[in-house]
Amino acid sequence: TQTTQKWLQNYVDDWVNFYQKNTNEGEVASYIPILQEANQQHLGISILGINGMEIRSGNVEIPFTIQSISKVFTFIVACIQRGVSYVLSKVDVEPTGGAFNSIMHLETRQVKKPFNPLVNAGAITITSMLIGDTAERKLEGFYQLLEKILGYRPPLNIDVYQSENESSVRNRAIGYYLLEMGYLESELDLTLETYFKQCSIEITIDDLARLGMILANDGEDPSTQEEIIPRQVARLAKVLMLTCGMYDASGKFAAYVGIPAKSGVSGGIVAVAPPRARDHQLPFLDGCGIGVYGPALDKQGNSIAGIRLLRHIANQWDLSIF
Ligand code: GLN
Repeated sequence: TQTTQKWLQNYVDDWVNFYQKNTNEGEVASYIPILQEANQQHLGISILGINGMEIRSGNVEIPFTIQSISKVFTFIVACIQRGVSYVLSKVDVEPTGGAFNSIMHLETRQVKKPFNPLVNAGAITITSMLIGDTAERKLEGFYQLLEKILGYRPPLNIDVYQSENESSVRNRAIGYYLLEMGYLESELDLTLETYFKQCSIEITIDDLARLGMILANDGEDPSTQEEIIPRQVARLAKVLMLTCGMYDASGKFAAYVGIPAKSGVSGGIVAVAPPRARDHQLPFLDGCGIGVYGPALDKQGNSIAGIRLLRHIANQWDLSIF
């Protein structure tokens, strides 16, 4: 096992160095002004196996805000609080093929609900369903879930929250549209405040690897056998990640990488490689969560170097679920 771990570590180190060259491509997100302060050159990866094996490489210590990755976990919390069938009666599970902050897709839709919980319109609707009459109370279940998985309560980055709140024209437009359609279950300002705060929680790639690992293990903590996320909800979360998690690049990500993943505009990606039924080339890593960070983004808003690194590793290690 130790030689395998060492071999895997060297392998990952080599490819992080290689793909670090790609960080000159793309751009750091700027529509939330403070996100521009991120260092475009950064690239890091953290892999955590269900069996506990850990591989970390590159810029692993940099904290960043969770952004859209939060949408997976507020969806999970809404399902736990309100029941899966109720949540799915309000938000659909169809990919849009459009941008994450699209309004057009809301307007042209025949079915009277937002497309899915991982685009802004669906995510804001999900946030409106969280129980509580203040943003802090609405986020309590989300924080509790994170704390249960990570072992600590990640902090809110107040500067990012303020920057996003001040530059939130598009999300407000989406919010007003949702309000007009009668989709929101809590008052608009409260819903948006909660949504911007959930996006501004600060985490690391180690946290993403752990969150991904729990999903890879169908919601159960492998060391305690505790069910942290109901199996059915964990499964739905992975379906959404696979079909909608990488915005309008989700199809390509499924084709070329082949595992559920969710990205955020600060440059993080959480990926989930579930254990494989058949004999696996790398039994020591059969089932893992992967966190990557690389703030230089492509036009869809996904980390360029992060996707290339994930694609390389997933192909070499045969992680595709298909
Ligand atoms: N807070 C961001 C927004 O709604 C999250 C978007 C993202 O990460 N794609 O604009």
